[in-house]
Amino acid sequence: MVKKPGELFEGFLRRQGLNVTQTRRAVVEAVFSLPSHFDAVDLWTALRDQRVSTATVYRTLDLLERAGLVRRVSFGEAQTRYEHVLGREDHGHLVCRACGRVIEFADLRLQGLVSEVADRHGFDLAEVVVQGHGLCSACRKGAGREPRHAPQKL
Ligand SMILES: [Zn+2]
Ligand SMILES: [Zn+2]
Repeated sequence: MVKKPGELFEGFLRRQGLNVTQTRRAVVEAVFSLPSHFDAVDLWTALRDQRVSTATVYRTLDLLERAGLVRRVSFGEAQTRYEHVLGREDHGHLVCRACGRVIEFADLRLQGLVSEVADRHGFDLAEVVVQGHGLCSACRKGAGREPRHAPQKL
C-alpha cells in the first residue's frame, strides 16, 4: 500500500522523538496541495486560515526535507524554492531567465552518466540535480509571459 505524505511524516516525527501536532499535520497537507514547485510564501499563503507562524512554516519545511518528502531547488532566484520528492521521479529542470518558466524533463541517461562518473571516483552519490538556464521558446520569440512560478510540463 502506498503511504500518504502525512503518514510518512508522522512516522518520521515519531522516529525522531518529535510530537505529531495539528500544525505539523496542516503544513504537510498544505505542502502536498501545492504545485510541485513552491516557496515558503506560497505555503504560508495556503495556510493563511490556520494561523501558523512563519517560523513554524520554515521549521516544518526543514523537517519535511530531512524526512525526504521535499527538497530544496534553486532556480537562480533569491528565495529558496522547494519541490515534492514523494511520488515524483528524478527529473531535471530547464529554467527560463526571462520569465521564470520551469520545464521539467526526465531522462535517465543523464542520471546514469553522473552515476558512472561517481563510481569511477569511488563517490557515494546521494542525489543528481540536472538544471539548465537560458531562454524559453516564447521569450526567444519576444513573447514571454509575465514572471510566474508554476512549473510547466512538456
Ligand atoms: Zn521565458
Ligand atoms: Zn521539478
